[in-house]
Amino acid sequence: MEQVLELRHIYYSYHTPEGETPALADISFSLSKGEFIAIVGPSGCGKSTLLSVICGLLSPEKGLIRINGKYMRESTTNIGYMLQHDELFEWRTIFNNVILGLEVQHMLTAKTKEKAGELLDLYGLGNFKNSRPSELSGGMRQRAALIRTLVLDPDLLLLDEPFSALDYQTRLQVGDDIGQIIRKEGNSAILVTHDLSEAISLADRVIVLSGRPATIQQTIPLIFDLDRDTPLARRNAPEFKTYFNLIWEELNANV
Ligand code: ADP
Repeated sequence: MEQVLELRHIYYSYHTPEGETPALADISFSLSKGEFIAIVGPSGCGKSTLLSVICGLLSPEKGLIRINGKYMRESTTNIGYMLQHDELFEWRTIFNNVILGLEVQHMLTAKTKEKAGELLDLYGLGNFKNSRPSELSGGMRQRAALIRTLVLDPDLLLLDEPFSALDYQTRLQVGDDIGQIIRKEGNSAILVTHDLSEAISLADRVIVLSGRPATIQQTIPLIFDLDRDTPLARRNAPEFKTYFNLIWEELNANV
């Protein structure tokens, strides 16, 4: 299968006047086209650092990263990044927020604008194009933030705890909703989360990291026997509890 991302023996440490903090040690894994990986691990183990290394914000001390078969420096791959907070600008309408990335990357054309409108219609925000972010619920805002990322047509989508600022019920709905949008659009994605249920309901594979410096402690493929593999169907499937316990034990083996 075509590989979007390949990490081989990645190491990264932070250097401060107080000393060195190793954050990543010998991380190797790959991601196939259309695959959805969730990364879980104890707080402060190095999950966000790993995403920063993948998107090129930080350079690894050792190891190699290939994106779409090319080394990081030569790569022209478009990486989308979605964060905890939606970062929508109140002084712009939802439509103008959604096209912000297109503007910044000089990709704003009649065609890309049309696509932005289509995605807003398709994912239930068509009537809110001219609204301000404060007029939308937290879940709708997060959906708008995802559309802003998707309209750039990213080859790889990085999601860093994107639902954790939402209350529990909204979080469930939005997590399921956004997971399905990503599947439908056929994106390759990496989700960092501390919520095991979220990881199990959305991903094809869960990578469990050890405590800092993060190493890969275990990789668990998620296989569900379902006619319609949706996040909600997964939550109600018997395999869900088995995977939850398995990952929970792995995380506690860490402590
Ligand atoms: P996680 O996302 O798993 O909570 P992070 O990747 O944010 O963890 O951080 C991993 C470790 O690196 C933490 O112990 C943190 O204290 C340290 N760290 C993160 N950013 C910096 C920084 N800019 N300078 C020094 N240490 C940092």
